[in-house]
Amino acid sequence: MSFTLAIVGRPNVGKSTLFNRLVGRRLALVDDQPGVTRDLREGEAKLQGLPFTVIDTAGLEEATDESLQGRMRALTERAVGMADVCLFLVDGRTGILPADEVFADILRRKSARVILGVNKAEGHAGESGFLEAYSLGLGDPVRMSAEHGEGMSDLYDMLVPIA
Ligand code: GDP
Ligand code: MG
Repeated sequence: MSFTLAIVGRPNVGKSTLFNRLVGRRLALVDDQPGVTRDLREGEAKLQGLPFTVIDTAGLEEATDESLQGRMRALTERAVGMADVCLFLVDGRTGILPADEVFADILRRKSARVILGVNKAEGHAGESGFLEAYSLGLGDPVRMSAEHGEGMSDLYDMLVPIA
């Protein structure tokens, strides 16, 4: 049986980069430039032969306006409702920010099944962010690099019991 994975988290943590890697085609936008409004994106992923559906949640970068923050929250809640499991991505380089706590709260309130991914952790980067991630209380984090493809076999190991 196949399953659906939703990639959630605040803007700029690397959700779309990971989506593109998992789907293998450039279906999602990736930018360095904030200000692009996006929606939910769905693709068929394959990781080491394991097939599943993956959802990339909209960026709504720099959602400082309260209505945009509300929209990001609504989109995330929608994605969580569609998913069997959520990959909550944080940025190992910036560490845990207040915005990350907002997403952690959504996942807790929805009682979502969560895999906590600490991205941008290629090489020895992101180690302090990795340690900070334990404070979210969402279980043991997984180091990964969406850009460089590191941590993908750890992600695979966490997905196998769900499939
Ligand atoms: P999103 O807003 O969460 O979808 O994030 P994006 O996928 O658009 O990525 C935001 C920025 O982080 C882009 O400049 C990416 O190239 C960069 N990025 C994504 N993954 C990694 C990673 O694993 N390592 C590093 N160093 N940068 C990354
Ligand atoms: Mg994105």
